[in-house]
Amino acid sequence: MITFKQTVSVLLSFMFLFSLSIDSGQCDGTKECTELYRRLESIGLNTRYVRKLVSHLEVEFAEPTSTAQAEWRYIVNNLRLPIEVKEETASRIKFDIKCYQMDTIIHELCHASLDMLAQKDSPLNSPERNHYDVVNSIWADLYFDDRHKFLGHQRYPRMKADEICAYYVGGAVNNVFAGLSNILRFNIDLAILYIKTPDDADRLGSTFILPSDEMIKNNSFMKFMFSAEGYDAHHAGNDTAYFQGKAIPWNEREFVKRDMFDKVLDLRLPHNRQELCSNLNAVDNSWIKGKREELLQARKKVAEKVAKKLAAAQSESPAPNPTNPPTAINLLGVDPQLLNTLPADQ
Ligand SMILES: [Zn+2]
Repeated sequence: MITFKQTVSVLLSFMFLFSLSIDSGQCDGTKECTELYRRLESIGLNTRYVRKLVSHLEVEFAEPTSTAQAEWRYIVNNLRLPIEVKEETASRIKFDIKCYQMDTIIHELCHASLDMLAQKDSPLNSPERNHYDVVNSIWADLYFDDRHKFLGHQRYPRMKADEICAYYVGGAVNNVFAGLSNILRFNIDLAILYIKTPDDADRLGSTFILPSDEMIKNNSFMKFMFSAEGYDAHHAGNDTAYFQGKAIPWNEREFVKRDMFDKVLDLRLPHNRQELCSNLNAVDNSWIKGKREELLQARKKVAEKVAKKLAAAQSESPAPNPTNPPTAINLLGVDPQLLNTLPADQ
């Protein structure tokens, strides 16, 4: 027979076990996201807030469903990501994910941030308060917009505001990484376009550069890669958000958009490709060091080819006049006759 004391003790044991199971259900997703942080930081983005957010939730990988690539399951604080972003041999996000996959992860993190941390009472200018304020501004826009009325009532304005924020911020981060891949491509794969003399390679070393305005204007491929709309995180990216499969009409206000890109998740996105390029030249991490080495080698290779071409052109030119042997100056293409006309050194 079980006494009252035993019953209480059994009940307490159950409660203890139950609380343990709740705790283990809210495990920290940090380990799954270590490479995500590294990827964001590799180009100078700030991960302080994302790290804090992820420490409050659980990350898991699963096949996408028919309705969603990824999902923020707010009741259990569970961030479900597509299996394609996972490393093959470890349960963590791959470093080298594609732009659209980064978009998906950031989109879901926006939902998680709003549910878990964004608070009206958070300190002014904190990422928590900024996110709350941005979504509330959008919410107000939707609330007063007749296009969202159904039988005289607003439908889901806060959920729609959350989606708008997530779509736009995810799109902006997507854009930054697409811009990054264009900068890498121009600098490393297309070094032949801007290394015209061996000196160019020495002068540039491993500094990342952007194509000149003239090059962008005159080269359709460059225009495609570096058009104004193709990068600027504050004016492009996703400009439409969806809720239950339908586009959400929203007359975005410039300042709301600016706050959204600048402040939500506190990633501190570069505003344009010049800022992104400066970040690449300023950051110091193993990934960028590898890219700088690739860059150096690519430029060196082109410089060697250019030097060979110059030498071949030189040997094909008519035999030099023995009274006027080639000098370092006339190798650069200066007419020897012109040299004779210059005044002699004093
Ligand atoms: Zn969403």
